[in-house]
Order: sequence, then C-alpha cells, then structure tokens
Amino acid sequence: MSQRSVLSSILTLRCPKCRMGQLFKSGKISKPGSLFSMYPTCPHCHQSFEPEPGFYFGAMFVSYGINTLLFIASWITLTLVYPDYSLLLLLGLLVGIVLLSLPFSFRLSRSIWLALFVRFDPHQAIK
Ligand SMILES: [Zn+2]
Repeated sequence: MSQRSVLSSILTLRCPKCRMGQLFKSGKISKPGSLFSMYPTCPHCHQSFEPEPGFYFGAMFVSYGINTLLFIASWITLTLVYPDYSLLLLLGLLVGIVLLSLPFSFRLSRSIWLALFVRFDPHQAIK
C-alpha cells in the first residue's frame, strides 16, 4: 500500500501521524456548525487531535496567511477583470470570499498546524 505524502495528508485533512484517519467529521451545508467539528482523536491510530488546551491558537496565524493569499489573488483578479472597481466593491468581494472560504481555511489551517507538531509514524500507517 502506498503512503500519502505530507502535502497530500494536509490537503486531504488526514491525521499527520498515520495519514489515514480523517481530522474532521463530515459536515453538512444545512448545518453550518457541523463544518467545524473535529474528531477528538484519530479514528485510525488514536492520536489526540488536541494535544494540549489552546493548541489551535497558533492555527489562527496560518489562517491569516491563507486569507492574505486569498485577498491578494482576489484583488489581482478584480484589477484584471474590472479595472474601474470601487473600494466598496472590493470590500464586498473580500467579505464574501472570507465567509465562503471560512470552512475551507479553518480546516486547512488546523491540518497544517497539527502537521507541524505531530510526526509521521510509518508503523501506524500500516496497522
Ligand atoms: Zn492517525
């Protein structure tokens, strides 16, 4: 069985220790709160997904970076598509993008943050 790469496990929101178990429960658009619910431990290897209280405080900085990249990409796209945009249009576009991408950036930032601190264990991947 081939193992996932670090990048693949981060992007598919998998446990960084075994790269098999899902980090998040499957969410439903009809229940927005469910988009943010995470398993307390890995369903595959039982690695804790909250190693200490307040662990994901640092994930806010990762989320800040993701949102900054989204802002810059949106601003460049708007400038190329509609060069005579108003400030109000730009602000409205950015607010809309932040709200629509919130579940994505929340999940991705937590996945990146957890992968920075939990090492891959190849023995857990083949269990
Ligand atoms: Zn795991």
